[in-house]
Amino acid sequence: MTQIQTGLLMLLLTFIGVVGYNIYINETTAEELSYSQFIKCLDDNKITSIHLKGGNATIESVTNLSFSTYIPDLQTILPLLKEKAVRITTEEESHGFSGLSSSMLPIMLILGGYLIFSRNSQNGKGNFSKGKSGSFQPITKTNLTFNDVAGISEARQELIEIVESLKNPEKFSILGGYIPKGVLLEGPPGTGKTLLAKAIAGEASVPFYSIGGSDFVEMFVGVGASRVRELFTAAKKNAPSIIFIDEIDAIGGKRSGGNATGSNDEREQTLNALLVEMDGFDSDQTVIIIAATNRPDILDPALLRPGRFDRQVTISLPDVKGRRRILDVHAKNIKMAQGVNLSEIARSIPGFSGAEIANLVNEAALMAARQNKTAVDLDDFEEAKDKISLGLERKNIVISEKDRRVTAYHEAGHAITATLLPDTDPVTKITIIPRGRALGLTQQIPLDDKYTYSREYLVNRIKILMGGRVAEEIVFNHQTTGASNDIVSATEIATRLICEFGMSPNIGPVAYMHEEAGHLGGTSSQKPYSEKTAQLIDKEVKDLIELCNQETKELLTKNNKFLHKLAEALLVNETVDAEEMDIVHHCYINEKNIEKELLKKQRED
Ligand code: ADP
Ligand code: ZN
Repeated sequence: MTQIQTGLLMLLLTFIGVVGYNIYINETTAEELSYSQFIKCLDDNKITSIHLKGGNATIESVTNLSFSTYIPDLQTILPLLKEKAVRITTEEESHGFSGLSSSMLPIMLILGGYLIFSRNSQNGKGNFSKGKSGSFQPITKTNLTFNDVAGISEARQELIEIVESLKNPEKFSILGGYIPKGVLLEGPPGTGKTLLAKAIAGEASVPFYSIGGSDFVEMFVGVGASRVRELFTAAKKNAPSIIFIDEIDAIGGKRSGGNATGSNDEREQTLNALLVEMDGFDSDQTVIIIAATNRPDILDPALLRPGRFDRQVTISLPDVKGRRRILDVHAKNIKMAQGVNLSEIARSIPGFSGAEIANLVNEAALMAARQNKTAVDLDDFEEAKDKISLGLERKNIVISEKDRRVTAYHEAGHAITATLLPDTDPVTKITIIPRGRALGLTQQIPLDDKYTYSREYLVNRIKILMGGRVAEEIVFNHQTTGASNDIVSATEIATRLICEFGMSPNIGPVAYMHEEAGHLGGTSSQKPYSEKTAQLIDKEVKDLIELCNQETKELLTKNNKFLHKLAEALLVNETVDAEEMDIVHHCYINEKNIEKELLKKQRED
């Protein structure tokens, strides 16, 4: 079918649709209920039954009257309906035109016209049946609180401030607080980013507007951008409010510039509209835009500029403690058989995300129900675990026990080197929970902003970086590729120490840094110094790193008991914070039982 034919057909169908729709309207006498009225009735227990046809709902009230409404987010409403014991009947959504909501008709008309007049044939194959109700309806009540989000205490702390600013915008700005505009939640799928955004809205009791990045992309050129504008208009009108954009990478990926294909065109227009809207706020309109992504690396830098998504909160996969808390949240309403130990279950599912844990509890309950058991027992959990793990393995998310061990020793090596050497930044967190491409992480935060660094500080940084690889070597007698980033960083510091800071006695206080040549490896052919100097620098860098490597090896060999203890603690707990690190250190010095001491602290938490 040519484009023009498609367009004409659409116009014709739309016409039939309008007529059909009017007949349909006249047939159904149910009074239209606004979405917020519907929510209120639901809250007040005034609804006895609901008949669903896609998002279109016919509602029976306690007074036996019937109403109709459109439910934009069924997923959110369903649990609420269940909670209120509303009888639910359903009917397959008809794909004819009689079920169209009135607001879609203008879109159809425009699309039909667009197809006829547009020369841009690329977009002709768009999927227009995805079009949704034109005006944005917030989910006024999310009812969720931070208590529903478990195991992400770090992120939670940062988000409490946002709730404060939403609850009390005036007070917040009078006190000189800077009200955040955009918050980017980054983390793997299923870690509770959506849940957290809803909990923020729930805590602050503000309307929550939500849209998925991929929703935009399936639309025609121009529609995405106008939806963004609509969304912001609605959210501003009801400020303070929250806009949640899931999978922002779908529209916020780096702009290609130039040879854009049709769909890129659409994406760029949508992204531009988003940027324009974000910049065009009055200070008295508190609308916080929360976006989620698991690909922060591909986002267009324009999105991350000050005044846009300048607050970034990383949400990682939960550690043992986190998994235990998430299990608690989801097992709250489930009857457990005796002998089900949730802590043990939490230990047995490394790598599970919050969503997978929710799924696990659900599956286990289903298994039990299928066998007419009165409570969920360990066998049910085992079966459910196998089922879910299988799916994970196929996606290659499960980390082998051997990799976990190597990672634990690697990170422990970094952390112990940092702890034992003088003049280093304190270790704030060590983890073997994978994040992005890294299998683990040792975090150090300087006590104060440093403007100058001593030679010893820099040399120790190199040693800390070597510590990971050295620990692997001592314990497993082998080297892995996991240390390649460490080596790059160590080489960079060593090179700067010698060339830029003039801290090498053999070369002296001469700066050999050059804009282009300055970047390690000296790939630039134009070095601002002689070949002889270049060789000398290379040798100095190599010698310094080798010396650091040797000394770190001696340090860790001498303290290898400490290394083993910390690695063991990491394997059990997955994350070790500053306080726990102190406990491990203390136990090592005083030859105390670490597990006992750590448990004592964890019980206090
Ligand atoms: P994301 O947006 O990061 O992909 P979601 O918020 O959609 O993840 O999580 C899906 C579901 O998984 C949630 O509705 C909830 O049931 C469960 N879940 C995920 N993370 C958590 C958590 N930290 N605490 C409790 N439940 C969680
Ligand atoms: Zn490392």
